[in-house]
Amino acid sequence: MTRSRRSPRTTRRSLRGSEALALNTASPLSRRRLLCAGAAAAVAAPLFGCANAARGPSIGRVVVIGGGYGGATAARYLRLWGGNIEVTLVERNTEFVSCPLSNLVISGHKQMADITRPYAALEGLGVRRVQGEAVAIDPQARQVRLADGRTLGYDRAIVSPGVDFTPGEVIGLDSPVAHQKILHAWKAGPQTAALRRQIEAMPDGGVYALTIPTAPFRCPPGPYERACLVADHFRRFKPRSKVLVLDANPEIQSKKVLFERAFAEHYKGIIEYRPNNELRQVDAATNSAKLDFDDVKADVLNVIPPQRAADIVRSAGLANINNRWVGVHWLTMEATAAPGIHVLGDATFAAPLMPKSGHLANQHAKVAAAAIIQLLKGEPVNATPVVANTCYSYVTALEAVHISTVHQYDTAEKTFKVVPGSGGLSTAASELEGRIALAWADNIWADTLAI
Ligand SMILES: Cc1cc2nc3c(=O)[nH]c(=O)nc-3n(C[C@H](O)[C@H](O)[C@H](O)COP(=O)(O)OP(=O)(O)OC[C@H]3O[C@@H](n4cnc5c(N)ncnc54)[C@H](O)[C@@H]3O)c2cc1C
Repeated sequence: MTRSRRSPRTTRRSLRGSEALALNTASPLSRRRLLCAGAAAAVAAPLFGCANAARGPSIGRVVVIGGGYGGATAARYLRLWGGNIEVTLVERNTEFVSCPLSNLVISGHKQMADITRPYAALEGLGVRRVQGEAVAIDPQARQVRLADGRTLGYDRAIVSPGVDFTPGEVIGLDSPVAHQKILHAWKAGPQTAALRRQIEAMPDGGVYALTIPTAPFRCPPGPYERACLVADHFRRFKPRSKVLVLDANPEIQSKKVLFERAFAEHYKGIIEYRPNNELRQVDAATNSAKLDFDDVKADVLNVIPPQRAADIVRSAGLANINNRWVGVHWLTMEATAAPGIHVLGDATFAAPLMPKSGHLANQHAKVAAAAIIQLLKGEPVNATPVVANTCYSYVTALEAVHISTVHQYDTAEKTFKVVPGSGGLSTAASELEGRIALAWADNIWADTLAI
């Protein structure tokens, strides 16, 4: 992790206009340093320098499906580095809503507005934004079809649609009443606000039960962060309430020692953690759940369902690993099932020790954008990309911890592998890391959305 020793005040003064506005007021990090470091990590030397969009006749059309962490970043960097590429971004939502920090909304420490950002600046860079639902990709005709019948031709497509769920694997979870009542809030948006309302309405002395599916799932530390933050809310406002964490996995999936410490030091008597306990059945009428070793009745039942790549990649026949995830060629992020279609982020079958994170989706995007520019020019792609991941988790409303890794492309094994000795884990939670986590979010939103 890179930390600036300069004070927040000095850092803000050193930035100009909109850059300063993009920083959290307590941020000790320089946005430009982080952006250029992230870009430099991901691509070949001739491509970076944070130069603005080039000009000239079009060298190709790229359609990007999904304006989240992967897709929006790819759209931006295709314009920044490629300039004369026609980029169309298809996104169903009108605004970007961030999963990172969304657990703070659920616990009442932030509002939806704090995790919502506009797409307008991408349009300012020349990205054509189309609001709509992509329903099909035809790799032969090189066309994307939208739900309203429109078609978009491409030379190369990028797909970064995130995850969808397989509620059918849990009896009762796919019923209309369960859809209404048993929330996942694992895609930031209306469910985030609705889960917050359920927790607010819960009586003191009630039980909030959170179920975690078998890995892999989006954001390995996310469920445990959510448990901590809801428990933090309870200890202040509903001290007789309990958080029951029912994990299908044998142990905490990320930052284990730090979460165990938080559970013991801050939430003894509030959080109860039960591993090896997979959810099998729910009854939405009674808010009850059957698991491998427990029958549970909760006031708020928050089920994170089993996951897979989102519908659009499955319908396009790209999900060729376990019928769930997309295999990719890591040098270009091109799907192994279909040339010309590059898949990013959570939808991919991960390289070893590569979590499904927003930070890595952003890095995948830079690898793909750089490669696509080279491919459209008929030039070789960078043969040795390096990407990094840093993930912060709050263990109280103010204190956070981080984990970080560096991943280098391994030519022999044709995948990214963790660089030995790289990265690290916090030794302890701190308020400083809590402030850095907010700065991380501001920085990555700025990098992703050009704000
Ligand atoms: C509670 C929680 C906390 C998290 N905290 C962190 C964190 O601290 N740090 C971190 O790095 N990561 C974190 N993550 C993980 C992070 O959110 C994901 O890894 C990241 O969003 C993946 O990026 P993506 O581009 O693959 O998908 P997304 O960011 O989900 O983007 C997918 C986009 O595609 C759109 N879309 C999908 N299908 C279509 C379609 N057919 N047509 C049009 N649009 C479509 C969606 O609307 C969405 O906007 C967290 C996740 C959760 C749930």
